[in-house]
Amino acid sequence: MNLHEYQGKEMLAGYGVPIQRGKIATSVEEALTAYTQLQEETGTDWCVIKAQIHAGGRGKGGGVKVCKNAEDLKEQATNILGMMLKTPQTPGGMEGPGKLVRKVLIAEDVYAPDFDACKEFYISVMMDRAKKRNVIIYSTEGGMDIEKVAEETPHLVHKEHIDPAVGFQGFQMRKIAFNLGLSGTAFKNMTKFINNLYNAFIGSDASLFEINPALKTGDDRILAVDTKVSLDDNSLFRHPDLAAMRDKDEEDPAEVEAGEFGLNYVKLDGNVGCMVNGAGLAMATMDIIKLSGGSPANFLDVGGTADAERVENAFRIILRDPNVKAILINIFGGIVRCDRVANGVVEAFKNMGNIEVPIIVRLQGTNADIAKKIIDESGLSVKSAILLQDAADLVSEVLA
Ligand code: GDP
Ligand code: MN
Repeated sequence: MNLHEYQGKEMLAGYGVPIQRGKIATSVEEALTAYTQLQEETGTDWCVIKAQIHAGGRGKGGGVKVCKNAEDLKEQATNILGMMLKTPQTPGGMEGPGKLVRKVLIAEDVYAPDFDACKEFYISVMMDRAKKRNVIIYSTEGGMDIEKVAEETPHLVHKEHIDPAVGFQGFQMRKIAFNLGLSGTAFKNMTKFINNLYNAFIGSDASLFEINPALKTGDDRILAVDTKVSLDDNSLFRHPDLAAMRDKDEEDPAEVEAGEFGLNYVKLDGNVGCMVNGAGLAMATMDIIKLSGGSPANFLDVGGTADAERVENAFRIILRDPNVKAILINIFGGIVRCDRVANGVVEAFKNMGNIEVPIIVRLQGTNADIAKKIIDESGLSVKSAILLQDAADLVSEVLA
């Protein structure tokens, strides 16, 4: 689960990571009220308004603007709230439809008044699977695309691995602050910042933190200016406060619906919908679709009980995707008998009325022959197979 920038900052602040003061607004009026309050608290007129969507690169798409006064802010809030914000990271990139902006963060401009003395850094924390350790990746080249920095100037991207047996050590914090070119107060503040940041990463069971930029201000404070936080869904039960931050508006509606039905569904870009029991079989099915010249439209694991209701729900979710040109149902009947699944498919098919997309069913395992007979004699326009390769060939046939 991903957090919005403002939620990530709220969480980090709880671990003592310094952030800039800010308030959230969903309308122009709220934005103006937030601005006035912020002005009173900080004593300055400058602020930054930032679109809250689950995607980075907002600055490039016009979703981050610095404002000098209330008129400025009113104008920008009017522009940004309700806009379809396109960034290199929204679906389809700058050519795509963009994402609707429902909320903005109004925050104090922490670059003012001494803009030239500010320094932007890149800091992220994640798991390095190959090394079986968490890693802090950091660079002096903050604020821009880290991928570009890594490609063109790889020596400017540093990594610090953390040994889980001893934890994050003081010398490592000092090494990071040193490599970032800091000294004096800023150096001390950076070691504290990075220590608290790492504690937040562990404490929230996160899978990714990306602070880009982390800012050194003119008066040597270190602040998280932008935060990307991804949490491990499997540990959300331990963090009801974080789980409550989930914003379903930002998630794929089909994935949200699938979750409610207890189906494991991930939308992909291809044209063949797949309905499979078991994650391993689902992956093998996606591979064979690729080998047969198709491309999977989704990953979908219906789980152990492929009854009519589950099959019907799965059908509905797959059919929401207009790119789907064929559906391959691939079920292995181990605990669940194939004939029961076949009856479920036939029933679901009848309940749903007219499905125009060709359907190929491959049932293997207990009572596979009976199942194939049930499908073939149902009078429905469903093709059946017992071998996976035959099913894949049927898929290429209907796509041709
Ligand atoms: P992103 O484009 O989605 O990564 O959003 P960021 O929060 O990283 O903002 C983009 C850029 O806007 C940053 O790299 C900064 O250069 C600038 N920016 C962000 N916050 C402030 C601020 O408070 N004051 C000023 N002057 N610039 C800011
Ligand atoms: Mn950023």
